[in-house]
Amino acid sequence: MTTTLLQTTPGPNLTPEQLELQQRARTFVENVLMPLELQAEELGGKLPEDTVQTIKREAIAARLNGGRFGPEHGGQGWTMLEWFLVNEQFGRVTNGLHWHVPNAYNVLMQGSPEQIERYLVPALRGEGGDAYAVTEADAGSDPSGISTSATRSDGGWVINGEKWFVTSGDVARVLIVMAVAARGGDRLPTLFLVEPGSPGVEYVESPRFTHNYPHGHPTIRFTDVEVARDAVIGGVGNGETLQRAWFTEERLGIATHGLGAMWRLLDETVDWALHRVQGAHRIMDYQGVSFPLADSATDAAVGRLLALQVAGLLDAGSDPKLIHAKASMAKLFVSEAAGRCADRSVQAFGGRGYMRSNVAERFLRELRVDRIWEGTSELQRLIIARALERRGVEATIH
Ligand SMILES: Cc1cc2nc3c(=O)[nH]c(=O)nc-3n(C[C@H](O)[C@H](O)[C@H](O)COP(=O)(O)OP(=O)(O)OC[C@H]3O[C@@H](n4cnc5c(N)ncnc54)[C@H](O)[C@@H]3O)c2cc1C
Repeated sequence: MTTTLLQTTPGPNLTPEQLELQQRARTFVENVLMPLELQAEELGGKLPEDTVQTIKREAIAARLNGGRFGPEHGGQGWTMLEWFLVNEQFGRVTNGLHWHVPNAYNVLMQGSPEQIERYLVPALRGEGGDAYAVTEADAGSDPSGISTSATRSDGGWVINGEKWFVTSGDVARVLIVMAVAARGGDRLPTLFLVEPGSPGVEYVESPRFTHNYPHGHPTIRFTDVEVARDAVIGGVGNGETLQRAWFTEERLGIATHGLGAMWRLLDETVDWALHRVQGAHRIMDYQGVSFPLADSATDAAVGRLLALQVAGLLDAGSDPKLIHAKASMAKLFVSEAAGRCADRSVQAFGGRGYMRSNVAERFLRELRVDRIWEGTSELQRLIIARALERRGVEATIH
């Protein structure tokens, strides 16, 4: 009965349907994903295939797959607010276990009907996802320096280059590759769909990273890889525009997951501090323990208001450039705050906080990358500073 649900968290007024969705996501996270965290950690992030299939089935049964995509493609057609409510729950889990929930990058919506049918629809059913390849050895924070090239051929295009840190590149059914198409003297950044099994696609390395997550981030080389004319997604030269929309959603996603992480960290740490007794007192009674938790609660509450504002602006169809800057602000604030929050929790757990079986220890490692990927904290500051100049102080901070 949706009407019996209580709105227990601060934020916008939610409809009974939205409260039911939030509760459905919470139940999935607590019953299906959280019990698998320690196994995932022990296995370096890679769960057995039958377990992965079970997670996918449960996610689909709970109608949590393909959230932002339309029902006609197998998604749920959520608003950004609804997407926020679900992703906040996903963020409460360690080891990136929510990555197993079938989904796809939003740029696939810009594909042709054939591309959507071939890659998006199966991805939302849990039958092979996508990976996004922009970064190169010499082009990270400044992607305008990418050197991967796409040259016209009789049948379509020939791609040459090497991409680094391709998240999920090891399991993806399709790679979304940013390459520069040359026309006359112009450099036209363009997104191409490349199947990993194509001749000339080579997996150079799959490095180990700080976190133990479900998928790797391999280095992939493209040598004379031939793709068809219709492998272009969103039109020649539109790569950067599509990427801006992609970044906005990804950065808000990082903020939203970070909020879930802070929520979980506070739940677990407050519970511990209320029950752990040392020197004849609960450690919560020592301000050295309780004040850092008060700071974490304040970080979590402020970050939530900011991220909810960005979600609301997206739902209202506000100025995309302003939203872009606000999403950077949310990512910057929450990723830095969540890192602080994890560090405080480790301290409150004492020696137990340094054990991999402890949620704070895992989050301390896992949240670190949120200050690096989808643009480092420094790059977010650059975007926000530019907004101050171009959109004005009032629009940027209100
Ligand atoms: C686990 C992981 C997964 C990733 N997944 C993907 C993926 O799926 N697809 C993809 O394309 N990329 C991915 N990346 C790449 C990621 O987006 C880049 O690592 C990030 O953008 C930074 O680029 P870089 O590593 O080349 O660092 P650099 O750009 O070399 O930056 C090094 C340092 O210099 C600072 N810096 C650089 N320029 C400026 C400036 N103008 N002002 C101030 N400071 C500056 C940076 O903030 C940073 O501290 C992933 C990275 C990691 C670690």
